[in-house]
Amino acid sequence: MRSVIPDYLSEAVGRVESDASGQLADYIPELAAADPERLGAVFATVDGEVYGAGDVDTEFTIQSISKPFAYALALADRGFDPVLAKVGVEPSGEAFNHISLESDTGRPFNPMINAGAITTHSLAGAEGLTPTERVERVVRGLSAFAGRELRLDEAVCVSEMEHANRNLAIAYMLRGYGILAEDPRAVVEGYTRQCSVLVTARDLAMMAATLANRGVNPLSGERVVGERVVRQVLSVMSTCGMYDAAGDWATQVGIPAKSGVAGGLIGALPGQIGIATFSPRLDAHGNSVRGVSLFERFSSDMGLHVMDVPPAARAIVRSNHVVGDGPNAVRVFELQGGIGFAGAERVVRETVNTAPEEVRVVLDLSRVYAIDDVARRMVLEVVRRLTLDGHEMYLVDPESILPDPDPGDGGRVTVVRDVEHAVMA
Ligand code: GLN
Repeated sequence: MRSVIPDYLSEAVGRVESDASGQLADYIPELAAADPERLGAVFATVDGEVYGAGDVDTEFTIQSISKPFAYALALADRGFDPVLAKVGVEPSGEAFNHISLESDTGRPFNPMINAGAITTHSLAGAEGLTPTERVERVVRGLSAFAGRELRLDEAVCVSEMEHANRNLAIAYMLRGYGILAEDPRAVVEGYTRQCSVLVTARDLAMMAATLANRGVNPLSGERVVGERVVRQVLSVMSTCGMYDAAGDWATQVGIPAKSGVAGGLIGALPGQIGIATFSPRLDAHGNSVRGVSLFERFSSDMGLHVMDVPPAARAIVRSNHVVGDGPNAVRVFELQGGIGFAGAERVVRETVNTAPEEVRVVLDLSRVYAIDDVARRMVLEVVRRLTLDGHEMYLVDPESILPDPDPGDGGRVTVVRDVEHAVMA
């Protein structure tokens, strides 16, 4: 049997193919020379499977899609406080190259508009790097996200620098406010080099998948940045990634995303997939026209909106029953699924409401596939409190979903392989 995903992608790409609306970015002359007909889409799963249709291996410049990744590098290299002191996280509702800063602090509103991205570039790498070393750090970092060594398009870089007056004006203003500590021209040059990194839709999907996979590249296995950094970056992408179209995007597509003026567009769906599209004609916001259509399709066809509400935690307690009778009776709470806060609350409520009369109580975790940190602590607290109430507590946990269970102060628990072992105990 052939996989259904490439067929789906080809069909989706085919459906938007004839849409010739939008314009090539022409404020960077070299970009105006791009082939407007190029069109590709790629899905990369968090375990490294890649599916594509159309022009998935055509190189183009990353442009603004470099911004979330450079922001990730700055946060990882300098820490949160120094970066947040210089760049905010508020959506500006303005175009990507809008010349504005927060009135009280002088900070750029967020790292996705040019003012914020120019500042972020200056914060990547250790303090005191030369401009060349900083560009090297950024290119190396972007390459780690992509899982292959990326290079620059010198022609696009030179072309953009020749028409960079607006970004230079922004950088001089940032220098005036003390946000940039270095020569504004050198920073804009570095930022422009960062925007000129060549990528394919395949690379971009892998970069997005690295975010979706909590900062670990699914193919190379390299941890590029930490989980806390990824959360910050995805949050900012979801509120600011599509500039002044961010609200439309959030409601209709609902995937943390970032666009670039060369026609690339990425989306990262936490825990699931990285998506990338490439189609150079842009709408009035500077977002790829056919890219936006494809994402709208993907989101509705496959239910990828992050605000779609997951199934309720109700089913976490699969059963609550007694095995055996008389003094040998054992109370069994059989749990299932992935347990987070709301699931653990169901466990707490079920045990409280049952107020078991049986001395022996079993929490059967053999059908649980994941338990997060808060749920783990809540379940262990249930164990501790039931011990204090005089119960003998057992955990059935054949796959060590809850390793080293220590209920703490006065709690005691015996881990057994199956319910029979608790009944026989
Ligand atoms: N290098 C471009 C610029 O700074 C990036 C803009 C974009 O992709 N939206 O103008």
